[in-house]
Amino acid sequence: MNRIYNFNPGPAALPLEVLQQGQQEFVEYGKYGMSLMEMSHRSKAVELLNEETQELLVNVLDLPNEYRVLFMGGGASTQFALTAMNFLKDGKVGRYVLSGSFSEKAYVEAQTIGDANVLASSKEHNWSRLPHVKTLMLEGNTAYVHMTTNNTIEGSQFQEIPNTGQIPLVGDMTSDILSRRLDWTKFSMFYAAAQKNLGPAGVTAVVIRDDLLKECNECIPTVFKYSTYVQHKSLYNTPPVHSIYMIKLVLQWVMRQGGIAAMEKLNVWKAGLIYDVIDASGDFYKGIVEKPSRSMMNITWRMKDEELEKRFVQESERNGFDGLAGHRNVGGLRASAYNAVPVEACKALAEFMIDFQKRNG
Ligand SMILES: *Cc1c(COP(=O)(O)O)cnc(C)c1O
Repeated sequence: MNRIYNFNPGPAALPLEVLQQGQQEFVEYGKYGMSLMEMSHRSKAVELLNEETQELLVNVLDLPNEYRVLFMGGGASTQFALTAMNFLKDGKVGRYVLSGSFSEKAYVEAQTIGDANVLASSKEHNWSRLPHVKTLMLEGNTAYVHMTTNNTIEGSQFQEIPNTGQIPLVGDMTSDILSRRLDWTKFSMFYAAAQKNLGPAGVTAVVIRDDLLKECNECIPTVFKYSTYVQHKSLYNTPPVHSIYMIKLVLQWVMRQGGIAAMEKLNVWKAGLIYDVIDASGDFYKGIVEKPSRSMMNITWRMKDEELEKRFVQESERNGFDGLAGHRNVGGLRASAYNAVPVEACKALAEFMIDFQKRNG
């Protein structure tokens, strides 16, 4: 086997054990004599898988009873539109915390559907820090507050989740779900496309509380309503069955590692290995994000010039690393150290960075 160190931002690394288990069951699923991908989504096997996976997510997150788990298609970007379609009724305003490009995309999309405005933003700082969200002024006509808990492209992550009281808080957790403990109950809804921390692309997990479900706009197409997915347990139409199955394997793997608390511990260690090299490098590696706003999942930095950054990427690839080039809008370098990226990969990267500096500093 010749698997390399995968630091891709998404789709991203999956645990080797999970891939191997998926491989073993690929052709014949259980005792059913066929692949899961050949089965009707109305079969008992798929119904069971779907329910088990939803329950597992509830258990791993330790969610209270009043939350529902939905599996939907279309990726996180579809949720940008669906949150607005479901909750921006006449006279109501969606208020957006802008902390990076994905949060801005969510906001721009909502504006095509209804009233949306900016509650707090760090755009004027080029997303190099997070906007303050401790004291938010929320007007009574606020349908919801939307925030992105981890900014995948820029490499920042909220430590503090605001308290929005009676006003629903909606979170895009695509790039940090299952990576750390968080008070989920501050959110009326959160969603995560699978391809960073949950599984392969193709499915988005949506967690929504009953009281917010009651606010759903009933005048939109059936297939776009959250209530449809709740009523049909996410089997209103054909779901991305194989992606859901892979999520199940990932969730079981997270449980075996010791759950979210154990993942968090590892993630602090992993990110620390790389940030330590950045901070000890003088100005050779320069973190893009201010320290208090740094992300454990996406570690971003720049170097003296683009020439050197390019050489870093090229050499890293020759040394068995993949996915370290920064996002095309930000430039520089980015190491995405999601749950499935092993400590060994981060150690190897830290060593490579030190060595690269010795040769080029
Ligand atoms: C990757 C990502 C998205 C986009 O996800 P798609 O499934 O490609 O639409 C949105 N938000 C965040 C925070 C992301 O990391």
